[in-house]
Amino acid sequence: LSKLPDELSLDPQDWDAFRTTAHAALDQAIEFLKTVRQRPVWQPVPAQVRKAISEPAPQLGSSLDEVYKQFRETILPYPTGNIHPRFFGWVHGAGLANAIVAEMLAATMNANCGGRDHAAIYVEQAVLTWFKELFKFPSTSSGLLVSGSSMANLVGICVARNSHADANVRSAGLQNYSRPLVTYASSETHESVVRAVEVLGLGSASLRKIPVRADFTMDVQALREALKADRLAGAEPFCVIASAGTVNTAAIDPLDELASLCQQEGLWFHVDGAFGALAYLTDTMRPRLKGLERADSLAFDFHKWAQVQYDAGCILVRRGDLHRAAFSMRPAYLEIMPRALGGGENWPADYGPELSRGFRALKVWFAFKELGVQKIAQIVEQNCQQARYLGQRILREPSLELLAPVSMNIICFRFRPEGLSADALDRLNSDIVADVQEAGIAAPSTTRILNRLAIRVNITNHRTRRNDLDILVDAVLYKGQDRLAAANAGDPERK
Ligand SMILES: *Cc1c(COP(=O)(O)O)cnc(C)c1O
Repeated sequence: LSKLPDELSLDPQDWDAFRTTAHAALDQAIEFLKTVRQRPVWQPVPAQVRKAISEPAPQLGSSLDEVYKQFRETILPYPTGNIHPRFFGWVHGAGLANAIVAEMLAATMNANCGGRDHAAIYVEQAVLTWFKELFKFPSTSSGLLVSGSSMANLVGICVARNSHADANVRSAGLQNYSRPLVTYASSETHESVVRAVEVLGLGSASLRKIPVRADFTMDVQALREALKADRLAGAEPFCVIASAGTVNTAAIDPLDELASLCQQEGLWFHVDGAFGALAYLTDTMRPRLKGLERADSLAFDFHKWAQVQYDAGCILVRRGDLHRAAFSMRPAYLEIMPRALGGGENWPADYGPELSRGFRALKVWFAFKELGVQKIAQIVEQNCQQARYLGQRILREPSLELLAPVSMNIICFRFRPEGLSADALDRLNSDIVADVQEAGIAAPSTTRILNRLAIRVNITNHRTRRNDLDILVDAVLYKGQDRLAAANAGDPERK
């Protein structure tokens, strides 16, 4: 008998050594988070570090200690910055300490959450049930945790498309569909909505961008007219996509009015509530989001205003049967078993495009179990108060200009000294944002409001204090005046 080779396992050969490294990593992770305020918000990744990270595939391994050491030196010091109290860019959540534990435990279980009968599936169902109730959706509605609102918008609009009468999209596609299918959203809608209609084969030209009013919310009268014009022209409207918190200014479309209009017109009502839907959890903001509970599908994120770690978003669909009908596939190898592991009723794979999925629900479950809905809602409330505080400070500063009304948690403003052309102002404000980021002081981002470059401050951050907003304003003023002085002195470095 020939000798069989020794068999290999990838588990640590020395569990005690593994334990020592793992404990050190955990301790240092906790220390890193605890001291975040003492570090710059962001710093660029130096060229030699980028080089070190992009080495070729290691044919032979090294010790865990070695790998961890490289992580500590080349990766950990250069985060996006969103865990920092003065990160105000885009719409990023700050994350929670408890996720350090939750993510470690999810990795330990390494559950495959496509389906089958095990605890992780029930955790996801529990989280979905919480949010169906919080958003006043019926118990017969369905949902799925996804990577974020981009995917949630895609899934929601896909169910809308597939449920649309006569379309028979699952087998026939849109190859021979007789009339153009048309969707509607405001001109302030997020690009992920555009991408969703592209991916779904509807074409971005079929998405009508409805103009907004002075407060950046959808002009419903303009929507009515567009619907009429499209029908006259032989097109087939099927879906309206409202924003509950636009990405530029946190404007809330008139959800209740749009829900009624969709009901009258037989249209699917999808709400993109990526961050803004969370404001529905607060008593003060809920009235402004009235109508959200009437959505046929609702997309929102846990990783933004709910502070859960990336990535975690969610889609809820009012008609669970339509949601399932849009995605369910049961080939022989996924046939449901009457008992044991192949059983269980709600397989997430029946509700979206993915089969294998991680245990995303655990960090959401940890976040809400430890903190409670009320405390997370308090942070939403606090961030809105902080936004109003910042708005008032900007109004008091003669060289600053507020560019949009403060709706919830986003402020758009600019440094506006006398005597500069519109283009020069745009360049100056863009430079100020880059200066403030590079100095590591704060991280606002930019956008355009009525085509003028704005310094955009988004507050979805439980670590932010009012004083951090003052530090930001002081830095903008300082950098702005510094640049003006340099330009006046003819400094060639600072044009
Ligand atoms: C962030 C955002 C999205 C996209 O969500 P992701 O989680 O980044 O995929 C969609 N809509 C709005 C309004 C957003 O703010």
